[in-house]
Amino acid sequence: MTRVRIVQLGPLQEQLNLREVVIKANRSQGQYIFHLAAPLEHVGEPTEYDGQYKFDLLADHLQSKRGNDTAQILIGVTDHAIYDQMFSAVNSELTCILISTADIEEDKVIQKTSRAGYVLFEIGAHLLTIEYRKLKKPKIKGEPEDCAEPWHKERLTCIFDWDEERRHTGQKIASPKMCAISSALLYEAGVAQTLIDATTNLVRAGLTPIRTFLRNQARDPITILILAALLGSVAGLKVFSTVSWWLQPYILLSLALAVLLPYRFWQLSRNK
Ligand SMILES: [Zn+2]
Repeated sequence: MTRVRIVQLGPLQEQLNLREVVIKANRSQGQYIFHLAAPLEHVGEPTEYDGQYKFDLLADHLQSKRGNDTAQILIGVTDHAIYDQMFSAVNSELTCILISTADIEEDKVIQKTSRAGYVLFEIGAHLLTIEYRKLKKPKIKGEPEDCAEPWHKERLTCIFDWDEERRHTGQKIASPKMCAISSALLYEAGVAQTLIDATTNLVRAGLTPIRTFLRNQARDPITILILAALLGSVAGLKVFSTVSWWLQPYILLSLALAVLLPYRFWQLSRNK
């Protein structure tokens, strides 16, 4: 299991609760253990125009305050803008991830969902980037500012779309998926399926339970059966009063199953 430490860098938006991020992150998967460190209130003055901070400056600050913490990966979450229009990135040593919530209000989808969901999405995508780059041979010399594998500049509504516009992030969060190119790269590098599943769960951890349930179960034959039973029951209800008395208990039973079974699946998918 990989230990991951989340740290607030400077003041944060009121709507973002990092404790909620940690709870959801730990609940959604079993490969990484997240914990929340004390916030770092002061990160110095911005170094670039428009109040932006160089990635390395924030990352170095984060590393220097590590203390006795033995976490393998540090994640800094900040409301400061990162130079140059970066929303999130990972350092070349693969030990530090920075996520910025600057200008997040420009994205309508994020406005409607949650800030925590956005942070979880970015955490999942960058942890998977780290797993890939650790295994990739020859090694990728990806500086934080570079669009390096498994990211790509093509817009494929993939979690690894390297977008330069904030408004595109929400589309990825609302419908998180991985394109064939990125999937093939992970497969070729030999990234374990358990890690892909864990990071995918993190990416999706911000979605509402119903959406997560639908996503997890959409390809499951039992779910399709249950949905068919549900539809059948609805149709059954319509003709309930007109059918013979001996058919009525069957209709009631399928109605009960149609409600209880999806509820059970929903519970299971939450506890995963
Ligand atoms: Zn892709």
